[in-house]
Amino acid sequence: MITGIPVSEGIGIGKAVIVKKEYSIKRYSVDNTETEIERFIEAIDKAKKEISDIKKHAEQNLGSDKAMIFDAHLLILDDPEFVKMVKEKIQQGTNAEWAVDESAKFYESLLLSLDDEYMRERASDIKDVSKRLIRILSDESHSEAGLKNLAEGSIIVAEDLTPSETAQMDKTRVAGFVTQQGGKTSHTAIIARTYEIPAIVGVKGALEKIKDGDVVIVDGYQGTVLINPDKQTLEEYEKRMNEEKKKKEELKRFVATEVKTKDGKRIKVYANIALPDEAEIAIKNGAEGIGLFRTEFLFMNRSSPPSEDEQFAAYKAVLEKMEGKPVIIRTLDVGGDKNIPYLNIENELNPFLGYRAIRLCLGHRELFKTQLKALLRASVYGDLKIMFPMITTAGELKEAKSILQEAKEELKKQGIEFSEKIEIGIMIETPAAALVSDILADEVDFFSIGTNDLIQYTLAIDRTNEKVSYLYDPLNPAVLRLIKMTVENAHKKGKEVGVCGEIASDEKIVPILIGLGVDELSANPAKVLSVKKKITETDYSTEKNKVNEYLQIS
Ligand code: PEP
Ligand code: MG
Repeated sequence: MITGIPVSEGIGIGKAVIVKKEYSIKRYSVDNTETEIERFIEAIDKAKKEISDIKKHAEQNLGSDKAMIFDAHLLILDDPEFVKMVKEKIQQGTNAEWAVDESAKFYESLLLSLDDEYMRERASDIKDVSKRLIRILSDESHSEAGLKNLAEGSIIVAEDLTPSETAQMDKTRVAGFVTQQGGKTSHTAIIARTYEIPAIVGVKGALEKIKDGDVVIVDGYQGTVLINPDKQTLEEYEKRMNEEKKKKEELKRFVATEVKTKDGKRIKVYANIALPDEAEIAIKNGAEGIGLFRTEFLFMNRSSPPSEDEQFAAYKAVLEKMEGKPVIIRTLDVGGDKNIPYLNIENELNPFLGYRAIRLCLGHRELFKTQLKALLRASVYGDLKIMFPMITTAGELKEAKSILQEAKEELKKQGIEFSEKIEIGIMIETPAAALVSDILADEVDFFSIGTNDLIQYTLAIDRTNEKVSYLYDPLNPAVLRLIKMTVENAHKKGKEVGVCGEIASDEKIVPILIGLGVDELSANPAKVLSVKKKITETDYSTEKNKVNEYLQIS
């Protein structure tokens, strides 16, 4: 058994298909360096044509945001520094294949040496492009052809998969991914989650230990890879996989349904996402909207904040994918345990009680306004709702709203369109907000209770500290009383309340939240269908009568 980082849940069983990245790059000296440079330039043109074709294919099959990866490849081919380095090496008398390989290795190791995970992952783009150039130059057939003709139930084992490889692969025939490199945001991980294919990345020694045709079990829950397992283990996993499939199939009847409790109370079920691509998974899993888009992931693993245009493209992509369904986008929530080096947030003794979320945004007005403008511009593409995180006082909320107003006025002056009907909400994540929710309700259109934080702040438990995790009890009456108070205060003013913390995905807690009167639950995309099922099995009036018990017992 070998292990790695699980990045896409599920059990996959199949035969290993090894994707080798070995090329026989020969080094030889050339006399006519001018002709060799011409050969290199021709290879660049051919590579551009191939990439544009793959991009078109990807746009049709994967959507325009995923196809954007290929723009990065085209940029590498146009990069004057890269082209210059290759030419210089050729001028020294070496063949083009060797010059490309050497130059690519230089840039790859440069990127891999950086602290930034995002930049490190870009090394695979360089590798992808150089591999293509070398193949064109040396006329070798390419593994892409093999990937197009995969057998049913293939477990793809690779160093790391390049976007062009994953784009051309018949994903319906892939039972799992195992890669030696990559992290949670690597291309393989994103593709695997989008297609719900179990995947484990960062598996050291996978290419040494797994041979082509080996029977492999990918356990995307545990992060384990079993190679040629014994009969009993194989049967156990097959049983689990089949049970999982059956359960998934049964749940599919809820994809298109709006669910009600047994006694007819309608509860909306939305999904939480962190990257625009995940909206597709949300839709596939029957989400009626996005209840929380954690935009901070757009700001992470990079060296400067995303521009207004870049953010606009991401928000627009989600709104378009959701086709008019509600999309609650939360403004930047960093600080606490989510550090962004380029914002130069000072180390704090108590970061969760410090300069985070809305506090940081109010202190970085331009950063905040840029995000708000991008959101406003995207609003014409769907039903956008804007949500501010970690509000503790009405003053903060008013200030955030006044910056939003400034952003609107600036856009108006520029003649840029935005929707006039954007609802504004806040997260109820601090006891202070819950306690003054009657006042806050006057200022907003909706609340969403962030129980992950509400629990930590109410019970005084750092949510990242293992030593006190035994005290992290979502059902503590103190927490439930605050939820109840928030719901009652909001309903008195005719405002809806959702829950977007992890407990909204927990089938055991869902009935209690229903009993407390919440209107909407926003779950992990993979849990949306089971939450929907649970709602149909719950009786609202029974749960409502039981609530008082929960409010007393700890
Ligand atoms: C929460 O606090 O419950 C929440 C949803 O926000 P995050 O987990 O991103 O802090
Ligand atoms: Mg939170």
